[in-house]
Parts: sequence; structure tokens; C-alpha cells
Amino acid sequence: MQVENDQSYDRVLTIATSDSGGGAGVQADLKTISALGCYGMSAFAALTAQNTREVRAIHEVPPEFLKDQIDVVVEDIGVDAVKIGMLFNGELMEAVAESIARHNLQNIVLDPVMVSQSGAKLIKDEAVETLREQLFPLSDVITPNLPEAERLLEYSVESQQQVEEAARDLLEMGPKAVLLKGGHFREDQSTDCLVLDKTDEKTGKDVFWFEAERIQTDNTHGTGCTLSSAIASGLAKGDTLPEAVDKAKVYITGAIKAGSRYSIGSGGGPLHH
Ligand code: PLP
Repeated sequence: MQVENDQSYDRVLTIATSDSGGGAGVQADLKTISALGCYGMSAFAALTAQNTREVRAIHEVPPEFLKDQIDVVVEDIGVDAVKIGMLFNGELMEAVAESIARHNLQNIVLDPVMVSQSGAKLIKDEAVETLREQLFPLSDVITPNLPEAERLLEYSVESQQQVEEAARDLLEMGPKAVLLKGGHFREDQSTDCLVLDKTDEKTGKDVFWFEAERIQTDNTHGTGCTLSSAIASGLAKGDTLPEAVDKAKVYITGAIKAGSRYSIGSGGGPLHH
């Protein structure tokens, strides 16, 4: 039987790190991308030996091999959007910046991963500057949480009112947009602020607030990875950035709610996709 194969697939590449426990990193990215109906591909920067309690070891991939992984999928399959997660060191960041520029990749979502919820360092100290200088200017949106934003800005954000100002300061570092996940000021709600470097054509606005119910659970391992992959999936499908963030927030709220019903491991458990 001849099967018709004329359906197009929106293709998302995650350039990030393995979580052997399956809750965060590339594993969370691929689950999210699949759940949202896109085709997922991966280029590994590093591997972690990790469970819900700890990151026991990190094994870095040679930068040339990271480039090879990106090259082969671009040359054959094609990429509609890219999610960049944990890259760990400056050499791996340089390899990613070079690959993105060389292939002129579009729809770049960068999650500036720094420290895990279990407290492990997921970026080398000296690489924070490389991330900012080499990868922020190539990004369509960066998605820091509050502690990451504070480390990048070198000041602390004390109130919900300061969140927009902080997001605008991060915009000065070169990305086209900033989604500042500043959700910790209210008990019952998670509130994120998106600022764009130009007005959105559909709405005529350059700042957007996203509010979602806060779910009381310890099972939030992989939340940042999931949100950024969901945004990349939306962009791959042709959504505008505010639309993609809006849908990603709906997705993540559902995944946290679903994950809160499971008991996986004895530490911070994962979401359910
Ligand atoms: N492990 C890997 C490989 C990651 O990429 C990340 C986050 O990006 C984490 C662990 C940390 O996840 P969380 O802080 O949600 O526990």
C-alpha cells in the first residue's frame, strides 16, 4: 500500500543537555515538542548523571561534536525553531553561536540556565559573559527566571513593579525580546513579563503580562526547559511571540498540574506531559 506523505511537520531543534532522570533538559524538551505536535531533534552539549535529588556529574561533549550534531540535522531535516538550554561552558556556547550564524537559524529561544532547583551549578561562572555576549544578540527571546535575571543584571529585583524595568534592562543586552519569569511575588499567581524591542504588529503593544494560577507542588523539575521548548514549538508553527508565550503558559500550567499527582523519585519530581 502506498502511504501518502504530504503532511508538513514543524521542526524544533533543542541544543541542550541530557537529564538522565528524564525530568529536565533535552528529555523535557522532546516530550514538550512532541506533545505540542512538532517534530523534535536534539544536539547535546553535555550529559548529566542526575535524578530528582541531585546532579551527581556533568560530562561535556567536545564543541566540534556539538557542531556536527547541529550540521547534520540542518543539512537533511531542516529546523523551524531552536531552543537553547544548558550549554555549561564558554567553548560550547561559541560553537552554538557559530552554528546558528552559519546556518542562519531562525526563531531562537534561549533559556539562560544557571542553577538547578536541586542547587547544582549548570553554567561555569566565566561562561555567563559568553552567554550574554555571543548568544543573547542571536536570540529572538530569552527566558530568565528572577534569580537568573538578577545575576545577569547585577542588581536585585524587589517588587512586581520592578519586573518590567528589569526586563527592559535585559533587552539592552541584545535579544529581540525578554520573557522575565517573575512569578514569586504572589502566593496564588505566577506572573511573567514579556517585553519586545519593537511593537507587536497584531496588538500594537511591546509589553505583555501573563498570569497563571500557581500550583502548590514540589514537582516542578524541568519547568524552565518545558516553557522554553513550548515557546519554540509555537514559533515553529508560525505563532507570533506573544501568542507562543500565551499558549506555552497554558501548556506548562497543565503539565505542572498533571505532574503534581505523581510521585516520581524522592526529590523534586518532574512535570507530566
Ligand atoms: N538538568 C538539565 C540538563 C537542565 O537543562 C536543567 C534546566 O535547564 C536542569 C537540570 C534543572 O532543572 P530544574 O531547575 O527545573 O530542576
